[in-house]
Amino acid sequence: MAETYYVAIVAGGIIGACLAFGLVRRGARVVVLDQGRVGGGTTGATLAWINATAKADDPAYYRLNAEGVAAWRGLAAELGAEAIGYGGEGAVFWAEGASAALDADRVRLRALGHDFESVDARAIAGLAPGIRVAPEARGFRATADRWVDAPRAVAALSRRIRASGSSVMEDTRVASIRLDRTGAALATNAGMIAADRVAVAGGPATQELVACAAGPEAAAFVPVDQDPGLLVDTPPLPAAADLRVHLFPPGASGLHLRAFAGGFRMGSDAGDATVRTRPGQLDASGAVAAMVAEAVRLYPDLAAGGLAAACAWRVGIRAVPRDGVTIAGPVPGADRLWAVVTHSGVTLAPLLGELVAAELLGAPPSPLLAPYRPTRFART
Ligand SMILES: Cc1cc2nc3c(=O)[nH]c(=O)nc-3n(C[C@H](O)[C@H](O)[C@H](O)COP(=O)(O)OP(=O)(O)OC[C@H]3O[C@@H](n4cnc5c(N)ncnc54)[C@H](O)[C@@H]3O)c2cc1C
Repeated sequence: MAETYYVAIVAGGIIGACLAFGLVRRGARVVVLDQGRVGGGTTGATLAWINATAKADDPAYYRLNAEGVAAWRGLAAELGAEAIGYGGEGAVFWAEGASAALDADRVRLRALGHDFESVDARAIAGLAPGIRVAPEARGFRATADRWVDAPRAVAALSRRIRASGSSVMEDTRVASIRLDRTGAALATNAGMIAADRVAVAGGPATQELVACAAGPEAAAFVPVDQDPGLLVDTPPLPAAADLRVHLFPPGASGLHLRAFAGGFRMGSDAGDATVRTRPGQLDASGAVAAMVAEAVRLYPDLAAGGLAAACAWRVGIRAVPRDGVTIAGPVPGADRLWAVVTHSGVTLAPLLGELVAAELLGAPPSPLLAPYRPTRFART
């Protein structure tokens, strides 16, 4: 083992990359170890809607996510918005006519002080040129929401991490982690790695990695479910180039879309339900065709045949902590071991990276993270 790093970070998704960046900008030497390409896990298969808008049911979690949205503003200013594909001008939700559900959302968001404005059909068409919306469309635009190209952000962070003298090792699978009073030893296919402490940010593999480091009792403090989701990317389309917001149109399927790489990136509740009930089935073409048909209803100019066949799709695995919210902090009963895992990991990564990096370097525990410690899963 040539060198002892201060922290070994397993692995290089958006959470691990932001955590490593938070550490190196504070002067620590770290190593990021990923079994594949950094940003190639769930981070490579995400809508990457940066928002607190969808978290209004839980005020503490809403606040955490609102801080996450603010942290992205800072990170984009530092890395360059263009370099990480950061942008958008909010998220638009609408119904055709009155909607009790949207009214309830507005009440909740107003109580939290969330920034939003009312939109009508004309305003929606201005934000999404080419769209067809009913004249009676009414809704709201959550103005602070943004998007990012998450793998590009990971690539930009990795360049900074390497430039600071720390290491990012790809194709390096962590097979086992040994912790003792003096430090940590990680066995990988690239040899042994020595570190003072280990931070596990393995997305869907986090609980398994904690178990391999510290056994099943420690892993019980990091209970994570895996929830697949279907993402569909169209080829480049003129209408997508003009789209400035995330769109959440009315409809039972829960379709949502944003601009991505010159085309639309789409997901839907119905598509997620399909891959959830048939996780092993690799042919999602029926769900893709249904999503494309809905997009064509919104954008009649897309009606040219063959669009569904020209789309790329991917199933991403969400890591969802058992109670739905973030887990971040030292793993009880396991010296030198930290875990950071969450759904909404894109929204929260820069914030969690900063807060957890500071704590790893000895800062007092952040009050923002108090509700999200692994200790809440202690058996009573
Ligand atoms: C369809 C879909 C839509 C989503 N939409 C949004 C959204 O709009 N907004 C939002 O905020 N979030 C969204 N999410 C969630 C978000 O994408 C994730 O929370 C986030 O990408 C998780 O990042 P991560 O770094 O924790 O995990 P990952 O990106 O999965 O990274 C974990 C890494 O661990 C590596 N790894 C695993 N085991 C090992 C090992 N033994 N050794 C070494 N490396 C290992 C993997 O290779 C991987 O790169 C969405 C997710 C999905 C699936």
